[in-house]
Amino acid sequence: MIIFKKAAALRLHLSQAQRKEKRVGFVPTMGALHQGHISLLRRSLSEGNYTVCSIFVNPTQFNNPLDFQLYPVTLEKDLEQLMDAGCHCLFLPDVSEIYNEAYQKKTYPLGMLETVLEGEYRPGHFQGVCEVVDRLLEIVQPNVLYVGQKDYQQCLVIQKLLQLTGRTEVGLQIGTTLRENDGLAMSSRNMRLTEHDRSVAPSLHAALASVKQHLNGGSFSDLEQEAVNQLKAHGFLVDYVSIRNADTLQPAKSKEEPLIVLAAATLNDVRLIDNLPLN
Ligand code: AMP
Repeated sequence: MIIFKKAAALRLHLSQAQRKEKRVGFVPTMGALHQGHISLLRRSLSEGNYTVCSIFVNPTQFNNPLDFQLYPVTLEKDLEQLMDAGCHCLFLPDVSEIYNEAYQKKTYPLGMLETVLEGEYRPGHFQGVCEVVDRLLEIVQPNVLYVGQKDYQQCLVIQKLLQLTGRTEVGLQIGTTLRENDGLAMSSRNMRLTEHDRSVAPSLHAALASVKQHLNGGSFSDLEQEAVNQLKAHGFLVDYVSIRNADTLQPAKSKEEPLIVLAAATLNDVRLIDNLPLN
């Protein structure tokens, strides 16, 4: 695996690969890698791409400074996992390489996508996501971009970013959420859970699974409230449990729409998100 810290050197390397007709697959991450990240990487490799992973903890997408400070960094273990999986190339930039002197801050017109759900609870978060993804795409210029459904709203934001920036030729592949055996969605933040909270955390997925199971047994708001009650009983501080149209993230009105239930809830300062498509 070749490691690049400088954008210009990486771009040169990738343009040489692309000149040889290789397709570049790109998996952006913030490190503290787990099997969810690796599943995206393996998918890119299995589709025959020259595969690039990036590790960059993007300061501009953290609305909570403490969350940024406490974000886990496990670089040595990450490198091992990337090499074991057969990753071709790692981009490991400093903040000054991404937001360099030439960098000009932009505002991305994301519409309601950035004001609902995560957008409501994490103001500025999706602008920060767009800033870093736009910049990474400018450097890597991938043919295919791999992202995880675990961050469902982020997938829709990135889809919109590709449209807004005219990158319609970039293929967007959304990988399914990898879970621990007890149902907890894999996440870098899980390593910050105490032993007790780790044992309680799978009830987030269980609450969403229960919404899916009882979809025909009650109104959307009753199902949402029941899930909130379950989570509160387990000690979660709940931001939202919401059944939405899976294409638009507008509140769902009928069972005929494509539906998804999304949730965000906190256990002792560790904020977890998850979602489950319903039909
Ligand atoms: P992060 O490092 O959290 O920014 O995540 C990097 C990429 O991995 C994003 O596209 C995430 O959606 C994806 N990802 C995170 N957790 C999982 C998971 N449990 N299963 C699949 N993909 C995931």
